[in-house]
Amino acid sequence: MYDKNNIFAKILRGEISSNKVYEDKFILAFHDINPQTKIHVLVIPKGPYIDLNDFSSNAKIEEIDGFIRGLGKVAKILNIEETGYRYLVNNGKNGGQEVPHMHFHIFGGEKLGKMISK
Ligand code: AMP
Repeated sequence: MYDKNNIFAKILRGEISSNKVYEDKFILAFHDINPQTKIHVLVIPKGPYIDLNDFSSNAKIEEIDGFIRGLGKVAKILNIEETGYRYLVNNGKNGGQEVPHMHFHIFGGEKLGKMISK
């Protein structure tokens, strides 16, 4: 069950403010409150999807299309298209997902190193 009171749902409803990068019909992108790299932005769908399993199974084709296109738009806005960047999705318990509203992290603005630190 989707938790309507998760922090990103509150941001989407405007109950909590965010440092917005981009918004359209399908997505909201905002700066992470605790950035792990020079640029660290979160991209979330507007629909109530818990994680990538939920989104990929239940989102409408236009929502998926809008989300994927939105990811590219955000990279362009952040001016990291040329220098490169990394998207990361924490999914579920083993993935370390903390907020139960599907989100993509975008990291950039510096060399990112290895994909996973051991
Ligand atoms: P995850 O561990 O993948 O669920 O990531 C959740 C992310 O949300 C973390 O990187 C947090 O720093 C970030 N976060 C939590 N609350 C907020 C908030 N109010 N505004 C922006 N980012 C947040």
